[in-house]
Amino acid sequence: MIDSFGRNIDYLRISVTDRCSLRCTYCMPEEGVEWLPHTEILRYEDLLRICRIFVSLGITKFKLTGGEPLVRKGLADFIRSLRKIDGVQSVTLTTNGVDLKNQLPALLDAGIDGINLSLDTLDAARFAERTRRDCLPQVLEGLNAALAAPGLNLKINCVSMAGAEDDWIALAALARDRALTVRFIELMPIGLGQGGTPCTEAEVSAALERVYGPLTPYDTPLGNGPAHYCSLPDFTGKIGFISAVSHQFCDRCNRVRLTASGYLKTCLQYDVGAALAPLLAEPDDVIRAAIEDAVSRKPVSHQFTNPAPEHREGRIMSQIGG
Ligand code: SAM
Ligand code: SF4
Repeated sequence: MIDSFGRNIDYLRISVTDRCSLRCTYCMPEEGVEWLPHTEILRYEDLLRICRIFVSLGITKFKLTGGEPLVRKGLADFIRSLRKIDGVQSVTLTTNGVDLKNQLPALLDAGIDGINLSLDTLDAARFAERTRRDCLPQVLEGLNAALAAPGLNLKINCVSMAGAEDDWIALAALARDRALTVRFIELMPIGLGQGGTPCTEAEVSAALERVYGPLTPYDTPLGNGPAHYCSLPDFTGKIGFISAVSHQFCDRCNRVRLTASGYLKTCLQYDVGAALAPLLAEPDDVIRAAIEDAVSRKPVSHQFTNPAPEHREGRIMSQIGG
């Protein structure tokens, strides 16, 4: 699908649940949120139908997200079915890793093409502070299991916040001797992210360069999205940056998002798109037309620095999927 600004939309992020096992401070409130009733969450069979329609429109890459996707039962079977749709090139997952060790064999067997593990620190106390749960040991077991899986495309995603230099340096070290990519994400002012103290890519790269030497741009794409990558001297793996705030990349945006309740979101920052769930009783053509119409209205860019944009998103990140 080509949108009104000439961008090729070939990537869909699907939130399979709004529930989560953690409460990251920039994503979910401590007390949680009111979960969607099960009846409002798209069933896998409806999701598969919607995915087939997206594929017929040119979507080839899918990312499963949440909430925490691994808390939804039956995910591996869904991945297996999605992977079998003619035209699907990749199905990947972003997870907090809490249940990764248990589920990894089934995910691999289902044909998962890659896993992004969200991990902001290797320090147990700071992990508990950041996520409000004492789960670092389980996450590290998941990380080790994923590292041991032959050929798995694994990336670590760290949201970079002020005062966390030691964490960035320790996380980057994971890529020193392994073919692993460690990426640093600038905090976005969506939902609870509006209250945090963000750090820019420049601050993270300066901290890494002080310890590891110069970052050199690495131009080969390593994923579906807007990250850019660098090498460090003597590192086997790569360092990536997703810098939506300091290096806006909306001109290259290739994605749309589907919430767990079936709302098609065409821009992270704005509540614009189409409610697909109410159309499930209609023939495929009606759903296809709604998707095309929503994509034709995809905003040109986010305006994170604009204090009062119209149609500002009211959902928090766990309800969107990142
Ligand atoms: N629970 C899964 C996880 O953590 O990977 C999937 C959902 S989570 C919303 C997806 C990604 O969004 C995570 O990497 C998380 O760190 C990131 N994220 C959440 N809130 C954010 C914010 N305000 N700015 C930037 N990234 C954010
Ligand atoms: Fe859960 Fe992921 Fe949000 Fe953390 S970032 S609260 S793990 S959905």
